[in-house]
Amino acid sequence: MLVVVTGVSGTGKTTLGLGLSQALGLPFLDADQFHPPSNIEKMGRGEPLTDADRQPWLAALASELLEMEKQGGAVLACSALKNTYRQQLQVSDQLRWIHLTGSRDLIWERMLARQNHYMKAGMLDSQLAIWEKPTSGKLIDISGTPAQVLEESLHYLTLQEMKMNMGVIGMGVMGKSLALNLAENGVSVSLYNRFVAGKEEGIAQKVLDENPEFTQTAAFEDLQAFVTSLATPRRILMMIPAGSAIDAQLDALIPLLGREDLVIDGGNSFYLDSDRRVNRLKEVGMHFLPMGVSGGEEGARKGPSIMPGGNAEGYRLVEDFLGRISAKDKEGKPCVTYVGPGGSGHFIKMVHNSIEYGEMQVLAELVHLLRFGFGCSAAQVSDIFSDWGTGELKSFLLEITADLLLFKEGGELLLDKILDQAGQKGTGAWSLTTALEYGIPYSPLAEAVNARGVSGEKAMRVAFSKTFHHEFQQVEGALETWLPKIKEAYGLARIINHEVGFRLMKTVSDAKDWNLNFNEIARIWTNGCIIRSGLMETISANYADSISFFEMAGVKEKVISGRKNLAEIVGLALAKGFALPVMSAGINYLLGRITAESSASVIQAQRDYFGAHTYQRKDDSSGKFYHTQWTNS
Ligand code: NAP
Repeated sequence: MLVVVTGVSGTGKTTLGLGLSQALGLPFLDADQFHPPSNIEKMGRGEPLTDADRQPWLAALASELLEMEKQGGAVLACSALKNTYRQQLQVSDQLRWIHLTGSRDLIWERMLARQNHYMKAGMLDSQLAIWEKPTSGKLIDISGTPAQVLEESLHYLTLQEMKMNMGVIGMGVMGKSLALNLAENGVSVSLYNRFVAGKEEGIAQKVLDENPEFTQTAAFEDLQAFVTSLATPRRILMMIPAGSAIDAQLDALIPLLGREDLVIDGGNSFYLDSDRRVNRLKEVGMHFLPMGVSGGEEGARKGPSIMPGGNAEGYRLVEDFLGRISAKDKEGKPCVTYVGPGGSGHFIKMVHNSIEYGEMQVLAELVHLLRFGFGCSAAQVSDIFSDWGTGELKSFLLEITADLLLFKEGGELLLDKILDQAGQKGTGAWSLTTALEYGIPYSPLAEAVNARGVSGEKAMRVAFSKTFHHEFQQVEGALETWLPKIKEAYGLARIINHEVGFRLMKTVSDAKDWNLNFNEIARIWTNGCIIRSGLMETISANYADSISFFEMAGVKEKVISGRKNLAEIVGLALAKGFALPVMSAGINYLLGRITAESSASVIQAQRDYFGAHTYQRKDDSSGKFYHTQWTNS
């Protein structure tokens, strides 16, 4: 091992270097001994050295380090104030950096206390002025005792020699939480965040500094060093934005990796991009797992639902680790499963999010109706939701909505201060376009996407509300008589949302030969994820490919009992001026699906009338196509 201890004069490089030399059993080198006499004279006169002065000195040091590596290593104390000097000394992958830093006052004090040293204390400022923040290695603050600085350095060097079990790229909301979850569950982990000078510096190190209890962790902003720190086959989880960032990160990673290494994309990438990337890595002999992760920041930290797809061999490399960090179902089994080939993991995460959109929108519709149609206070609505949440309607989204309806800021309800414009990042819309591509009716969940779009047109909504004198009207009659119907309507709207999503998943699974296991998919969604619920437990237990979703045990009776109530509540709300896009699309969708004699005869007649598109007849089962001359002209 080669260790270089850097820092401006007075930071204690020699003290630490000698301590390390003794602890590691390596010879100690003092870089000052390698200066040519001209440099020593110059420094003695109090004149700062130029870059040209330093060149022969750095060259001599680099060649000495190479020589010492051949002999088993060394510890070198060297100011190495600039990154270019450090690059010149980086003669080997085995070279480790420890950079000593501290406040100017503390360093100044220590310099003044020195005896018989050719540096003048007044040169400190010029050294501090040229010192550049290092891009690799360990920064150690010298305010501790020499023993503490030595201990911290040795801990760092031990970690450097240790190969980590996993690497996480991207220390944003999700990457940081998953990395800490891994560390807490006994998986040693290297953290990496990109370095952008002046903007993104020391991000991964900051995560470690804030979480000192996790000692089996190391931080990097140099990708090569990060990769080198990992045990082989390497396992790397990327938690960065979907799209071009993923391809760019793969471009940078692939040349640094070897065959059998594994890369996981845990973000919300579009599943067709993931299909392509699985093939790309397969071509170079590597594994790729497109992996959905749900549960938000808290879930990622304490136990998310995890949906890995792609390369099955790659999954085996991380099955144990993912099982450790995931949520557990009610039997205690990890909420993670190998979903299927290609981009299927990202595909089901996309549909999960689409169902999530629908579930959120139904709750938003009901909050509005109960508050402004029935005159309930937010606290009353919260009580109603909490009551529903104790039974079979229980769900995470119902629970948090009951909670947020009570949240006050300065004595006032925070909800009423939040701008009514809903954001979205793409998964809902991707599900809709996929449904259109596969010819699957998707109106309830499509309306959840559209509702967010309409919410974004705030200025127009405000203007039109005046032009068209829109106001909510109060519902007549006691809330108590309506409440059981609203509850049934809510339950059925949710069943419809889920049926729509599962139908899309089944259709695409069949078309792509993915052979997805929907009991298992529902099982890993019973905990950890945003749409975890009692309904999901019913689906996990009762889903069967052989019957339709609506006929499933635990669902069929709700469709029968809830149908009229959903229609009545939607009708009532529309008449009172409330938009219920998902609930009303839901009842339309359901009625469309259960109506034996539909209005499509009219459409076929119209098509044949204006375009000679032909039609089939109810009184001819042969499938023959007919055309009628509808007019005399
Ligand atoms: P985030 O907090 O914005 O963090 C993004 C991370 O990616 C940061 O570390 C960022 O580094 C890094 N990054 C950004 N652009 C990059 C690039 N071009 N190259 C390399 N790194 C880059 O995002 P997040 O919420 O953690 O989400 C990460 C992924 O997980 C996304 O795909 C997201 O859709 C998905 N996801 C999020 C949630 C959630 O609840 N937040 C849940 C499930 C899935 P800098 O600090 O240097 O910018």
